[in-house]
Amino acid sequence: TTMLWNDRLVKEEEIKLSIEDRGYQFGDGVYEVIKIYNGSMFTVTEHIDRFYESAEKINIVIPYTKDVLHKMVYDLIEANEIVNGYVYFQITRGSSPRAHAFPTPTPEPVFIAYTMKGERSIEKYEKGVKAKFVEDIRWLRCDIKSLNLLGNVLAKEAAQQAGCYEAIQHRGEIVTEGSSSNMYGIKDGVLYTHPTNNLILNGITRRVIMSLCEEIGLPFIEEAFTTGQAIDMDEFFMSSTSSEITPIIQIDDNIIGNGKPGEWTRKLQAAFDARVQQLGSL
Ligand code: PMP
Repeated sequence: TTMLWNDRLVKEEEIKLSIEDRGYQFGDGVYEVIKIYNGSMFTVTEHIDRFYESAEKINIVIPYTKDVLHKMVYDLIEANEIVNGYVYFQITRGSSPRAHAFPTPTPEPVFIAYTMKGERSIEKYEKGVKAKFVEDIRWLRCDIKSLNLLGNVLAKEAAQQAGCYEAIQHRGEIVTEGSSSNMYGIKDGVLYTHPTNNLILNGITRRVIMSLCEEIGLPFIEEAFTTGQAIDMDEFFMSSTSSEITPIIQIDDNIIGNGKPGEWTRKLQAAFDARVQQLGSL
């Protein structure tokens, strides 16, 4: 398949990456994942904006304008004829002899993008999934979409070892977010989710949900809740680019609501589907 290596569309075999790339040695870089529905990138502007924001927060200067990067990624999707799937891209600080501090002179950042084919996993959306509480042991800049994902990896692995689809991370009592998703509870007709600060990623799907809540008349309250409150919610769900809106019907041994995806959650899913249908061409 075709991939992007810096600003060039190349065959995968042509890509040469250095052992001393700081992404490889330090996780020193940032990334994005955009979902492609029927040949169009969903919320592409928001993802590209967040990519530049993440890069800026760690002082990586992306050597393209947003428009050029958008066009590069578009050309990649077209080259691979992706109808439904994903495009992944990342940028690292570049390659330099191993030393923690930023190298001088500043190396050329290394940009990589590739596509994946994939259909929506309807069964998960309809039946819901189980989740597991996992202590949030990550650093204090979870707002950066960093390549350093070890905390997230360990959280997801713990969930999967327990037969669960996702981890619900908590710092002390406070629920923060999933290993690669945001978390929401609904109680007495009000939606609660952790406020966007340094402890969670400001999800693009979360922003879509905020707008869908307004559309369907569900109050969206950015207020943290505890693990105890979480298991007492009427409905619970997670969101991400890949999982969209996935109901959570059980947390550890606790059944949420009646153990089926809730009414509000299903309304949000329907409103989300309508947004996807509205997608224009790229
Ligand atoms: N939190 C974390 C830690 C994530 O990795 C993701 C997935 N990128 C999300 C939340 C959800 O973000 P988005 O809706 O933009 O995919």
